[in-house]
Amino acid sequence: MFKGCLSALLFTLLLVGMDAASASLDTLRVQNREYARLWDWARLRGFKAVRNPSSREVLLTNDSTRINLRIDGSRVEFNDVGLWFSYPVLIADGQVVVSIQDLRGVLDALVVPRRLPKGKTVRTICLDPGHGGKEPGQKAGSRLEKTYTLSLALEVRSRLVQLGYNVILTRRSDAYVDHPDRTALAKRANADLFVSLHYNAAAESGSEANGIEVYAMTPEGARSTNVSADVGSLRAWAGNEADSQNVLLAYHIQRALLKRLPGSEDRGVRRARFLVLRLAEMPAVLIEGGFMSNPSDARWIYSTTGRKKMANAIVEGITAYKRQIEALATPPPQRSSSSKSSNSTARPDSDKN
Ligand SMILES: [Zn+2]
Repeated sequence: MFKGCLSALLFTLLLVGMDAASASLDTLRVQNREYARLWDWARLRGFKAVRNPSSREVLLTNDSTRINLRIDGSRVEFNDVGLWFSYPVLIADGQVVVSIQDLRGVLDALVVPRRLPKGKTVRTICLDPGHGGKEPGQKAGSRLEKTYTLSLALEVRSRLVQLGYNVILTRRSDAYVDHPDRTALAKRANADLFVSLHYNAAAESGSEANGIEVYAMTPEGARSTNVSADVGSLRAWAGNEADSQNVLLAYHIQRALLKRLPGSEDRGVRRARFLVLRLAEMPAVLIEGGFMSNPSDARWIYSTTGRKKMANAIVEGITAYKRQIEALATPPPQRSSSSKSSNSTARPDSDKN
């Protein structure tokens, strides 16, 4: 039948690339933005979707992945790791809809990740201890962020080197290094990843703010979670080249941190146009490894054993990302439209460790 042929053709196109797949969703304009029905996306990606009639919760599941969404909410739990959408999940014409931006930039990035360019692997890691020299970063009492980001970077380096990675640091001492020089150094060293290390601190005393968050560059045109970092226009930057890998790396690191630092608050994978994320010409993330001002988070920040745990978690996240992304690196043989969906080779949890 003509319709069957058309479906087969469409399905084949879906296997070709993520953009083609997302573009094939029927879109609708809501609040002046492109949205698609969540049920359409779920069907496309092999998820079962259930909406709890007595609450605003929506649950998507397949064999390995569980995604919790909330109507009118922008936070999603992906295998129990928090992720922030740029725009809230809405109801339009009685159906649950999600912005195309978030379907592509968050859910597709994790469910059908993009391959690395041919010949690329994950071998050289550039670690960027935040601040330094005249720029102390956050302060909590007499403690300065720059001191602890460097200590953490040295721990992460040592663990990565043990595992056979090449590691470069943007600074090795209490020195000021300009942001563009940091990403330029990573580029000169042909780094495969750029990982910037930071800590938060509450501005007001008595604040109970705590927890861990990992930032990925905000996609072109999208709103950041951290809107204060939305400098200038929302145009594309060098850091947007790796949008799909950025969010996948952030997810794996956030997941490992939450697993290895029990009791930590999950502030989620967030988006911001921080300068190093804008300029990085390789997949990049910026980790905020807790609040220096919070006694519970301080356990991981100020103690040697806490720092080792945090370093091991970051390395575990990098390694989980490496396994998943390198498994996709070899283009699969030509498939016919009757072969299984690309989901089966691209599950976020294929990297259990
Ligand atoms: Zn910082």
